[in-house]
Amino acid sequence: MSSILNADLHCHSVVSDGTLTPEELAARAAANGVELWALTDHDEIGGQHRAAQAARANGLKYLTGTEISVTFAGETVHIVGLGFDPDDAAISQGLYETRGGRGKRAQEMAEGLARVGIHGAYEGALRFVGNPELISRTHFARFLVEAGHCRDTPEVFRKFLTEGKPGYVPHRWASLKDAVQWITNAKGLAVIAHPGRYKFTANEEYALFIEFKAHGGQAIEVVTGSHTPAEYVEYADKALEFEFAASRGSDFHSPDESHCDLGRLPPLPGKLTPVWELLAHRIQ
Ligand code: AMP
Ligand code: MN
Ligand code: MN
Ligand code: MN
Repeated sequence: MSSILNADLHCHSVVSDGTLTPEELAARAAANGVELWALTDHDEIGGQHRAAQAARANGLKYLTGTEISVTFAGETVHIVGLGFDPDDAAISQGLYETRGGRGKRAQEMAEGLARVGIHGAYEGALRFVGNPELISRTHFARFLVEAGHCRDTPEVFRKFLTEGKPGYVPHRWASLKDAVQWITNAKGLAVIAHPGRYKFTANEEYALFIEFKAHGGQAIEVVTGSHTPAEYVEYADKALEFEFAASRGSDFHSPDESHCDLGRLPPLPGKLTPVWELLAHRIQ
């Protein structure tokens, strides 16, 4: 398979913080010319069988997927898993535990918002939630937009949901080691999601790459909806430097919010090894 395959290996459904069902995403991906697809809900694989079936119905090749929340050097880092066995007990249990703190965190977020005069945010956010185990900042953002506190979700994050802001609650997620091992032990491949988005110093980023590799991580996202074109080039160089394969994915969440639609990204730079070459045997 060539590097110009239209692969979209990162997006979200109502099973986490997206607004479309797995079936709607598969149809949209097919309409946009995607050839190989993965649904990567946050900390959750409950949509995997539906997504694989919808992929088949729409003529798409499919890789199982998830995006695991990890705490590394005091920051939240996302690790995408691709091609793992969706019936593996250890990854299911690990993700279940990772989701575990979200309810309490959401209540604390609502308390923080109430202190600045925004009441009912927990109940408000819940109305946007498709999966009760997966209440996320995105659902709060949708409520705050609907209630007229902000114009759009990026503004909500800027004013309310990022470090130092009233609705932000620090949280401890999975360890990097556990996340990578859940994926690789289930025959999958671990990928650092959108590395350009973390606020790391060069030394911290180096530590992330080296530790990730030491635990068995094999790839980074290079072309993603979360990177600028300059970052495609920067992380293509880093993929070569650290001998990582490269992934490509829109990180699509919603037709109303996402600036990058499914399948609408430039191809991976040709000199890189695409993750789908390493995962050919796991494609359904
Ligand atoms: P959580 O897992 O609850 O911390 O929520 C993280 C999610 O919030 C991410 O996966 C994105 O979908 C969304 N998000 C994070 N930062 C921003 C931002 N600046 N603007 C819009 N959405 C964001
Ligand atoms: Mn998200
Ligand atoms: Mn992410
Ligand atoms: Mn994502």
